[in-house]
Amino acid sequence: MSATVLVIEDTPANMKLVAMLLDKAGYQVLQAANAIQGIELARRFLPDLVLMDMQLPIMDGLEATRILKADAATAHIKIVALTALAMKGDAERMLAAGCDGYIAKPIHYQHFLDEIKRMLATAAKEKELRS
Ligand code: MN
Repeated sequence: MSATVLVIEDTPANMKLVAMLLDKAGYQVLQAANAIQGIELARRFLPDLVLMDMQLPIMDGLEATRILKADAATAHIKIVALTALAMKGDAERMLAAGCDGYIAKPIHYQHFLDEIKRMLATAAKEKELRS
């Protein structure tokens, strides 16, 4: 069974690119254009991984990450931040909010896919340990 990745991204061009890369790599892809919809999909479908854009309307990616990590039903889901931010302290803030990792935009295809694969392998191992 292929892994499911939920992408929460408000910029259509970025969403299209990321969804295409994931789809071509054989993953099931869920898409949300804002954090509220993203949290809803995460709770309903319990994806293996969430790719979380940090800059989102209404509620930003940090807040959405905190909400998913505070909920026992979704806390185990890996969250990888997608971010154009590269300021000192940003990585620390993302990790403090509960992100398991981050990928800087613009994304480099191979690095992006390697990171997703690595994170999903970790998620699969942890799932095995929980069961
Ligand atoms: Mn954005």
